[in-house]
Amino acid sequence: MRVVVDLNRCQGYAQCCFLAPESFKLVGEEALMYDPGPDDDQVEKILRAAASCPVQAISFERPSSRSSKPGKKNEEAYYGH
Ligand code: SF4
Repeated sequence: MRVVVDLNRCQGYAQCCFLAPESFKLVGEEALMYDPGPDDDQVEKILRAAASCPVQAISFERPSSRSSKPGKKNEEAYYGH
């Protein structure tokens, strides 16, 4: 899984930090630090964090598990409100 946060959109509301503290941390009042390549065991927390972000700043992509065709590109999904 690859995580991207649009830091221009992020307003530092910190919902992601509460829901996935292993992956998102606020440094100071508004600087968000995050892990762009979290472990698979963090996926559920990151999905919740992305859904809770008030400004939909968190996006991610992960390999498709449905396709057995080699060379299929990763699916990209955006979650939010
Ligand atoms: S929940 Fe969204 S706006 Fe709030 S710190 Fe996380 S990415 Fe930024």
